[in-house]
Amino acid sequence: MTTTDKPSDQRFFAVLNAGSSSLKFSLFAETSDGRLERQTSGGIEGIGSPAPMFTAFDSDQYCMDEYRWDFPAQLDILLSFLIEWIERFLSPHHLSAVGHRMLHGGMLYDEPVTVTPEVLAKMRTLIPLAPLHQPRILQVIDTIIGRYPGLCQIVCFDTSFHKTIPHIARLYGLPKSLTGKGLIRYGFHGLSFEYVSEELKHIDRHAAMGKTIIAHLGSGASMCGMVNGKSIATTMGFSALDGLVMGTRCGQLDPGVILYLIQHERMGAKELETLLYQDSGLLGVSGISNDVRDLMASSEPAAKEALDLFVYRVVREVGSLAAACGGLDAFVFTAGIGERSPEIRKAICKQLDWLGIELDERANRLGELKISADNSRVSVWILPTYEELMIARHAARLATTHERQQKTSET
Ligand code: ADP
Repeated sequence: MTTTDKPSDQRFFAVLNAGSSSLKFSLFAETSDGRLERQTSGGIEGIGSPAPMFTAFDSDQYCMDEYRWDFPAQLDILLSFLIEWIERFLSPHHLSAVGHRMLHGGMLYDEPVTVTPEVLAKMRTLIPLAPLHQPRILQVIDTIIGRYPGLCQIVCFDTSFHKTIPHIARLYGLPKSLTGKGLIRYGFHGLSFEYVSEELKHIDRHAAMGKTIIAHLGSGASMCGMVNGKSIATTMGFSALDGLVMGTRCGQLDPGVILYLIQHERMGAKELETLLYQDSGLLGVSGISNDVRDLMASSEPAAKEALDLFVYRVVREVGSLAAACGGLDAFVFTAGIGERSPEIRKAICKQLDWLGIELDERANRLGELKISADNSRVSVWILPTYEELMIARHAARLATTHERQQKTSET
C-alpha cells in the first residue's frame, strides 16, 4: 500500500525499540480487515557517537531515506526527527499510537499497558531490575510526552507471556525475605514466544496446544516450555543472563563462580556486569566472535568448542523443559540462529533423537516450515519471529480502548 491510497480513518502504529546506542522503529498500517502491514522501518544508530545516522527502508527493504548528524545529537533531537519523519511519511494522516518494548514488568505488570503518569511512576521503580535497558526506554517515553503530549503510548513487557509459570517454577532456593523482594524467575523473550505460538496455532493447532518448546536462538537466546499454548517454564530467570550460552552472555552459571571472582579476582559490580553480559558466551569461549556465521567459517578449535557448547546447553535445557512439560509434542526454532542455521538445527535435533525427534534433512537444509520427518514423534518447525508485529497488535488493541475512553470523557 502507498501513502496515497490510505482510507481517511485508517490507523497507524509506530513500534519503537530503544537499545543502548540505537533506536529502531517500524510503522504499521491497519487494513480494513484489521490486519497490520509494515509500511516502513529503520532507525537511528550511533546514539551518543559523534555522528548518529538515520536510515529508513520501505516494505521491500529498499533504503528510502538517510540522514547523518555531524555532531553528537542528544536523544530528544533524534527522537523529534524520527517522529516528525514518520508524521511526514503519513501526512495527511497521523500516528494513532506508539508501542514500546520494555524488558521487565517485574511483579507489577503481566499485560501490556497504556502510559499514564501513574504507570510511568511505577515503571521507574522497575529500573533496578533492568538497569542497562529500562532507563533508556523511559527516557524515550518522557521525551515523546514532552513533545507530543496527546500521543497514546503503549508499553509491552518481555516478561508478560510468562505470567502463567507456576509459583514453584518461579522460586529460587533463597530465603523467603528475598523472594518477597522479587528475586524470582521472570523469563524474557515473551513477545517472541507469544507471536510464534500464535502463528503455530494457525498452522497446526495440535502442535501449538500440546506440549511445545520454542527455542528463540538469536544473539540473546532462551527457550520456553508451553502446555496448551501457555508458558510453564523458561530458561531465562531473574535476568536475561540465565539459561543458554548466548552471543556475549554466559547463560547458566554456578553462583559460586561469582563469589570466587569477587573474593579472589577482586572484581567489582561493573566489571562483573561487563564480563557476564558482554565478554562471555560464544565470544568469550571462542575468543573469536559472537556470531555463529564467523564461528562456522573458522577452522580454529576454539570456534568449534564454542558452537559445541552452545548446542550442548540447548540440548540439556530441552531435557529440563520437557520434564517440566511432562513430555514433548512439538519443537520450534526461531530468531537469527534458529531460523538461518541448518547446521545448528541439525546438531541440536541429532542429540534429541531419544525424545522422538527425527529431522527431515532436506527440509532442514532448505529451511522449510516443517522440518521433521513424517515418522518423527515430535513435530519440528521453523517459524520466523516478529516481535514488532506483536507489539503493534497490542498497541492497536489498547489504542482502541484508549480512543473509546477519550470519546466517553468528551461526551
Ligand atoms: P537479535 O535480534 O537478538 O540481535 P537475531 O535474532 O537477529 O538477534 O540473531 C542474530 C544472530 O543470528 C547473529 O549473531 C548470528 O549469530 C545468527 N545468524 C544470523 N544469520 C545467520 C546465518 N545465516 N547462519 C547462522 N547464524 C546466523
